[in-house]
Amino acid sequence: MIILFMCISTFGLNAQSKIIAHRGYWKCEGSAQNSIASLKKAAEAKVYGSEFDVQLTKDKVVVVNHDDNIDGIKISEVNYSELSNIKLKNGECLPTIDDYIEAAKVYPDIRLILEIKPHLTIEEENYIAENIVDKVKKNNIEHRVEYISFSMNICEQLVKLSPTSSISYLNGDVSPTDLFKKGINGIDYNVKVISNNPEWIKEAHSLGMKVNVWTVNKIEQIQEMLDLNVDFITTDYPELALKMAKK
Ligand code: MG
Repeated sequence: MIILFMCISTFGLNAQSKIIAHRGYWKCEGSAQNSIASLKKAAEAKVYGSEFDVQLTKDKVVVVNHDDNIDGIKISEVNYSELSNIKLKNGECLPTIDDYIEAAKVYPDIRLILEIKPHLTIEEENYIAENIVDKVKKNNIEHRVEYISFSMNICEQLVKLSPTSSISYLNGDVSPTDLFKKGINGIDYNVKVISNNPEWIKEAHSLGMKVNVWTVNKIEQIQEMLDLNVDFITTDYPELALKMAKK
């Protein structure tokens, strides 16, 4: 009985870190960063989540892309019609958030780790946050979406718009306690920040907050984060990380 109790408590203390594919699972045949294929491949790899980034066009269409420009065109300066024929590296058209949400319905088990990129003005940031939360609610996928952003303003807007959602701040410069006071319930920090401030993991957990770490690509870093019991490891090598997490 005592041994059983010890096993349960040990298991409880070492809950397995979950793996998130960074910009989807794109380092494989037929995929590309932030493509629909990268979401499909992440789902097929059976990881916890697929991360992706969103940007706003001049006519306020939300597109899925990491950088604020694509093929030398600044996304915020053109209407969507000027981007709709742009192809990703795997031949797919640049997806809109609507395309992405529609595709995600085919893979109901994977979480959507939605990064709203900082925008030039507060108005744009508030608009994109509102627009996305509205789409997420209308498509009944609130239980699958976890929000992340480098913009404190966007995180604060998300707290107002969707307070029960998972919302994590990315910029690495604020303690869990200070984020908690704002209603933000997670940290999603660079692996070097977490490595240098491992006490933030305990601090976050004691407040009921989650700890995600990016972009954890080296084997020794993945192992270090697993040993630190972070909740989520965001990586460009999701299959490798998943194998290591299961060990
Ligand atoms: Mg991202």
